[in-house]
Amino acid sequence: MTTTDTYTGGDVRLTGISKSYGSFTAVQPLDLTVPQGSFFALLGASGCGKTTTLRMIAGLEDPTTGTVHLGDRDVTDLPPYKRPVNTVFQSYALFPHLDIFENIAFGLRRRGLKSVKKQVGEMLELVQLGDKARHRPHQLSGGQQQRVAVARALINHPQVLLLDEPLGALDLKLRRQMQLELKRIQTEVGITFVHVTHDQEEAMTMADTVAVMNGGRVEQLGAPAELYEHPRTTFVANFLGTSNLIPAEVAGTGSEVVVTAGGGKLRLPGERCPAGARPGGRLLVGIRPEKITLSHADDAGAVPDGRNRITGRITDSSFIGVSTQYTVDGPAGTGLQVYEQNIERDPRLVPGAEVVLHWNPAHTFGLDADQDIA
Ligand code: ATP
Repeated sequence: MTTTDTYTGGDVRLTGISKSYGSFTAVQPLDLTVPQGSFFALLGASGCGKTTTLRMIAGLEDPTTGTVHLGDRDVTDLPPYKRPVNTVFQSYALFPHLDIFENIAFGLRRRGLKSVKKQVGEMLELVQLGDKARHRPHQLSGGQQQRVAVARALINHPQVLLLDEPLGALDLKLRRQMQLELKRIQTEVGITFVHVTHDQEEAMTMADTVAVMNGGRVEQLGAPAELYEHPRTTFVANFLGTSNLIPAEVAGTGSEVVVTAGGGKLRLPGERCPAGARPGGRLLVGIRPEKITLSHADDAGAVPDGRNRITGRITDSSFIGVSTQYTVDGPAGTGLQVYEQNIERDPRLVPGAEVVLHWNPAHTFGLDADQDIA
């Protein structure tokens, strides 16, 4: 075996890690644990520091402060080739003059192994390219080339695979296929994948845990559904899909928080509110568009008790096949988005119609109104 001999596996643990370039801080001091065997995504807009974080795990970038541990082992001062990690980049960086078999075998041959057929064969099977062994890279599609790059990185049995926007060069359809493919490969090999992307859908589809980064900091860390349903900052709420954020004032706190918004009252679970919420304080009440039901004002009496409700007027509607997206003028001129499945479309729901928006209070979240909305 190679440099991974003494490595026993374990979590990737970043402690107080930061990176500055001169006076500019690309990554603020960060504590982060990536559980062994997980598919972990670093998600954020361009320039937020996700690639720099990944490169510090790889050893391609020296941290300004902090340490990197792989399991119990401090690898902060180890050069990249001595770490049990491998990186797949967006540019597949395959050798054009070598066929696919030899591209994948490269790492083994460099270590002086002569008998590589079995291992390369297994890797070709894993990435489902058994019939392409003797092709050259230029004869493969972008998705196939990317799979070769993954196979080439996995053949050395790294404990952690780092993926830096690996699907960035692919068209949308291929991207979606490769997301599922990478997820399947990760499940099959069972090692830790740390995946950098700016695409929220990609992170949500693939990862068990997502760290949403903004301005060199992790804003929120959690399972995709947790982040989507319970964002804790306006940045996370807006970065992961569409959010309706309604300005409100806290009327009462407890296990259930009551707020006034546009003259009406809304309720939300106490644990979904910022810790400092006090009566009289300002809050943004959040609700995802697909959680809202739209009823014509004439049917307001039929809305079940116990639901949050506000009234408004439809200003716009777009039919998009499976659903219709409505814009509704809500309290204090808020333009609210509502997505309704087109199962039984109410023909009265057209621009100009007075409507009631109602939803289960449990789906509501509260955000600190004084944060910057990124
Ligand atoms: P992208 O998706 O565009 O790659 P990112 O979130 O991965 O963005 P990083 O590449 O980590 O961002 O860069 C974070 C910040 O650090 C950026 O503002 C970038 O310009 C800056 N930066 C990165 N490398 C250097 C460097 N070698 N010298 C100076 N600044 C750098």
